[in-house]
Amino acid sequence: MPPLKVLFVASECAPFAKTGGLGDVIGALPRALRRRGLDVRIVMPLYAGVPWDGLQTLDGVLMAPMWYGTAFGAVRLGRLPRSDVPVYFLDYRRYFDRPYLYGPPGGAYSDNLERFAFLSRGACALTKALGWVPDVVHAHDWQTALVPVYLNTVEWAQPLHGSASVFTIHNLAHQGVHDGGGMFITGLGREHYRPEEFEHFGTMNLMKAGLKHATLLSTVSPTYAREIQTPAYGCGLDGVLAARRADLVGILNGIDVQEWDPQADPYLPAPFHETNLSGKATCKRALQHEAGLPTRADVPLIGLVGRLTEQKGTDVVAQALERILAWNVQVVLLGTGDPPAERFFADAARRHPDRLTAWLRFDEARAHRIEAGADFFLMPSRFEPCGLNQMYSLRYGTLPIVRATGGLVDTVANYDEATGGGTGFVLHDLTPLSLANTVGWAVSTWYERRPHVEAMRRRAMAQDFSWDRAARTYERLYLDAYARRRGHRFRG
Ligand code: ADP
Repeated sequence: MPPLKVLFVASECAPFAKTGGLGDVIGALPRALRRRGLDVRIVMPLYAGVPWDGLQTLDGVLMAPMWYGTAFGAVRLGRLPRSDVPVYFLDYRRYFDRPYLYGPPGGAYSDNLERFAFLSRGACALTKALGWVPDVVHAHDWQTALVPVYLNTVEWAQPLHGSASVFTIHNLAHQGVHDGGGMFITGLGREHYRPEEFEHFGTMNLMKAGLKHATLLSTVSPTYAREIQTPAYGCGLDGVLAARRADLVGILNGIDVQEWDPQADPYLPAPFHETNLSGKATCKRALQHEAGLPTRADVPLIGLVGRLTEQKGTDVVAQALERILAWNVQVVLLGTGDPPAERFFADAARRHPDRLTAWLRFDEARAHRIEAGADFFLMPSRFEPCGLNQMYSLRYGTLPIVRATGGLVDTVANYDEATGGGTGFVLHDLTPLSLANTVGWAVSTWYERRPHVEAMRRRAMAQDFSWDRAARTYERLYLDAYARRRGHRFRG
């Protein structure tokens, strides 16, 4: 029986090009789907930073119909590392031979609409050139939101007539909003500039068009899937999402369980495991030493790793910090972000040299050592589509203290004092007082009910956050999308 054919169209894929969580998903999910036997392939731009050696140049030219005529590109073929998943790189220097993926920090290239229209149209052209017609095309975020639209319009003919589309939201904050006058750049007629497709309060919104046209929709956690249907989290598209609620699912991202493995992590001074946590005590001592804090096993150590931004709630951490440090605790922080936040934590660390250390930089190895050496991990996000750090923490037996939002709800179970159940500590109101109280609750549990903490650690470490679990659910979603588009089930 031939396998289900799935084409990923994406603007990022780790390790080739990545600015955030999207790149991690595209770099991992296809490999897990391949292990399930699907014929999955990826198409993405050939950016300047992609390592070219090892890529094979395919014969022929890629002809992508653009508003001004045909764009002639080339195609290079590589493989997703640790797999045989083909990655097709669309080579078109004028659009992609630039220092950044989307634009310099804080900015965007003025021709992004044209660049990603090329990617979307080029992906459709590629399948025809290869003679490989996908059963499902999986598009991601606004950069490839035109793909579901093309499949319903200019590609609504053989051979792509039967190709269903799945559109996944990784970051609803970026919607690909452009001036309505740019509609012609998509190659679609002005008649598509209407509220049922692209038009959104006087602008052209690619994300909206993708959400309207895709056969089925997903986002990266079940709770976030519900939240984005409400005004508080919907970034203006809550109405569009609520109208398609029956077609929208939340599938929790996985993590790279090879890279984040406490038993075999090259960055750690000692390995550990849920049945033998003595290595974790060694990691704690080493982390305290690295941070210049007193090396005391009898004081709880709280870690925080991430971007110091409003999304992550670090402004509230700042407001609660004095209250938190008034307890007998230590805090280590690793992050970069808003300059006032960086200044605040640098200053606070100077005032509390024996309680707080703040590293204001990006350091992968140290992030591993914090996840391993801390007792608790603080992540009080305002919104969190999925979140990775809390999953790394759980896997390393470091109990997360999180706010009840998005993927944090779906991964962390709140401590139950009566039974000792749970895997972390959850707060609801993002206020300094509520945050300090929840940290206080975790700290007092650590001091007074140590057996509960030890049991929670083991429970946390036993959770399954592998991509294999997510891949099972995506496969079901693809089969549903296929049946919806074709009117019958996939028979292979
Ligand atoms: P987001 O993608 O919203 O920033 P996630 O929790 O999903 O948040 O993922 C953040 C990733 O970035 C994690 O892998 C985390 O370890 C890493 N990270 C963030 N800031 C730093 C830093 N300063 N040093 C090392 N790793 C960091």
